[in-house]
Amino acid sequence: MKPAPFDHVAPATLEEALALLVEHGENAKVLAGGQSLVPVMALRLATPAWLIDLNRIASLAGIRQLDTGELAIGALTRHAAVERSELVARANPLLASAMPWVAHTAIRNRGTVGGSLVHADPAAELPAVCLACDATLVAQSVRGRRAIAAAAFFRGMFETALGADELLVEIRFPAWPDGRRHGFIEIARRHGDFAICGIAATVERDRAGRVGDARVVAFGVVDRPVRLAAVERALAGTDGGEDALRSAAGAAADGLTPRADHHASAEYRSELLPVLARRALAQALTPRRR
Ligand SMILES: Cc1cc2nc3c(=O)[nH]c(=O)nc-3n(C[C@H](O)[C@H](O)[C@H](O)COP(=O)(O)OP(=O)(O)OC[C@H]3O[C@@H](n4cnc5c(N)ncnc54)[C@H](O)[C@@H]3O)c2cc1C
Repeated sequence: MKPAPFDHVAPATLEEALALLVEHGENAKVLAGGQSLVPVMALRLATPAWLIDLNRIASLAGIRQLDTGELAIGALTRHAAVERSELVARANPLLASAMPWVAHTAIRNRGTVGGSLVHADPAAELPAVCLACDATLVAQSVRGRRAIAAAAFFRGMFETALGADELLVEIRFPAWPDGRRHGFIEIARRHGDFAICGIAATVERDRAGRVGDARVVAFGVVDRPVRLAAVERALAGTDGGEDALRSAAGAAADGLTPRADHHASAEYRSELLPVLARRALAQALTPRRR
């Protein structure tokens, strides 16, 4: 199918884009990489009268480290730029590990970090990484800027806390503490397809070598990325050995009602959760060979 007719406008500045959002309101959609929006329009699931194209706004793209140690990524930064960034590899190894799993090479060349987060597909990798890292999503409108914690941003399937007149402009990841380790794993039919189930995890050990702060996030399972609190609790204070991992990961499906779709049944997702949680935690806790 072809999209319904629409008008296209490509502002050169963020201020112009924000004013256009107010002017066209519900009749407008923002265009970033177009990798999700264009198919949705072609299926006529979205029929905006106006497309506000962000691609001329250079200030919306870029990767930098702030004096605080935070990693700041502009919403219009392409997936491929994040994937290839040496700064990202140093400043947030979990994000770096997740990037090659985001779609296929051609899509990563065009798709943007902001587009993925606002699209809020429950099977997408980047929302899970944001939740695992306690990232802050910075929104801007003609009314000003506000910071939204990742835990509050993802509200459901394709639903976020972003207002109709707001743009996502930047994503900030807190500084990565020394000694924090990570694991990332997912199952999809083909590498690059959306995950049937995946786990993003970070783990820190205390001075005695016991597991301290652990964050374990599942994606592809319910309507948004979700922290596996029972796993995190069960792991804290243990030696992080094989038995502790297996026992903690066994709680991965506790309290969750996985969804069923044409990719996998709810039962299959329930079975994957403890297996993938254990493997992701093993990546994080097993000493790596140099
Ligand atoms: C075949 C295929 C496989 C894919 N597999 C995966 C996968 O495995 N994992 C994965 O994560 N993704 C996957 N994707 C999606 C891909 O990552 C997209 O790049 C991403 O979801 C959307 O990014 P975009 O820049 O193309 O956004 P667009 O398609 O341009 O926009 C998506 C939505 O976000 C809104 N939007 C975009 N930017 C902003 C902004 N700054 N502020 C406010 N609203 C904004 C748009 O209005 C639209 O509603 C796949 C896509 C395809 C076509």
